[in-house]
Amino acid sequence: MQNSTLVALDRSHLIHPVTSFRGHEQQGVAILQSARGAYLTDRHGHELLDAFSGLWCVNTGYGQDSIVRVAAEQMTRLPYATGYFSYGSEPAILLAAKLVALTPASLQHVYFTLGGSDAVDAAVRYITHYYNSLGQPFKKQFISLERGYHGSSSVGAGLTALSNFHLNFDLPLPNQHYIASPYPYRNPLGNDNAALIQGSVQALRDKVAQLGADNVAAFFCEPIQGSGGVIVPPVGWLKAMETACRELDILFVVDEVITGFGRTGPLFACEAENVQPDLMTMAKGLTAGYAPMGAVMMSDRLYNTIADGAAREAVVGHGQTYSAHPVSAAIGLEVLRLYHEGGLLANGMAQAPHFEQGLRELLAHPLVGDARSRGLLGALELVADKASKRRFEPSLKLSERIAAAAYRRGLVFRAFGDNILGFAPALSYTSGEFELLFSRLRKILDEVLEQPDVRSAL
Ligand code: PMP
Repeated sequence: MQNSTLVALDRSHLIHPVTSFRGHEQQGVAILQSARGAYLTDRHGHELLDAFSGLWCVNTGYGQDSIVRVAAEQMTRLPYATGYFSYGSEPAILLAAKLVALTPASLQHVYFTLGGSDAVDAAVRYITHYYNSLGQPFKKQFISLERGYHGSSSVGAGLTALSNFHLNFDLPLPNQHYIASPYPYRNPLGNDNAALIQGSVQALRDKVAQLGADNVAAFFCEPIQGSGGVIVPPVGWLKAMETACRELDILFVVDEVITGFGRTGPLFACEAENVQPDLMTMAKGLTAGYAPMGAVMMSDRLYNTIADGAAREAVVGHGQTYSAHPVSAAIGLEVLRLYHEGGLLANGMAQAPHFEQGLRELLAHPLVGDARSRGLLGALELVADKASKRRFEPSLKLSERIAAAAYRRGLVFRAFGDNILGFAPALSYTSGEFELLFSRLRKILDEVLEQPDVRSAL
């Protein structure tokens, strides 16, 4: 079909996620046609180096033939098996057992979802059931971080603290509350990491005290805030928040949807700080985007309380047709094999210093105020004034211009609204691909800097 026809059909009928409807009608869709390794190709044959792994998910890179083989074999043998009525499938059971072995020891039980949003939604439902089962129905308040992202289910979008997810959606809910983001670059206390960590702990204590010590169910956080602008808290922050949750007797829920599966170095960010969450959510890198799947994992304590809280014969009424889908599970097993035996985790860790150095070198660029990363998750923050960290006026539409220049020059990354550029290259990236990423990125920044209104805004 002609490209122009597809663009017209898209404009008329297809609603895109997290997109300005009117803006998209004007701009039109960019249709991707194929992908191999780190490269995407659009319908015009234009090749793009993907420095965002799709949407921080294709951690293995594209065109991994063994994943395709495993999926085809599973589809041929058993394309679907319900998990209802105590049925199941071999890949789902093996994947659950593998995840229990690979995640912190606190996590012993897995519920599979279709992605991250429904993993967060399931976590909230299970937590609610848990406290009711425990005879503590008053523990119903939830706390998360400003700039946090926990998906866009009806309840998760309220734990998400980004204004577009609330506007006209009647969120947050009355039981959803936020504390400040642990944002080193914009820390009012300057570069003092210990003070920043202490500030977060105190903010959580204060919020719990304000809501009533007995009323708070859980604290949700990402180890590194992704969609809020790749905000990398200091090492030790996650552990400090875990400790605070224990003191305050609230559940500690870690959302590793982005940070999981080698994105920050180890398989999970929790590993690096020896954190033992009560619940953990994951998706994206679990199947590396080759099929939809997410999961919520929970401790024995939660599982057993929920199990005993339901009357013996009563079902725990949470489920989806495609929970523990056998094809996704088979893909998940192969993806985990590629991370470990396939050497992808090791390659990601070996390449991370080049990634970090490439970002750091761009700090000398007139537009760049901050460069931050952990593992292969990173960002540049562009500012109009480096000393005051003043942001560019939104009317300049700098992020949109950068995204357009990036497309022309064959590079994909995420240009967030407040001039933060996010990067999440695949764990399969080679040194040559990092060189190409940074040479293209520099040209894109130079091109935008030469535009008179941008230069005069500095
Ligand atoms: N939690 C986090 C931390 C995420 O980054 C995302 C997605 N970007 C989600 C939840 C929601 O996942 P999904 O888009 O698969 O529903």
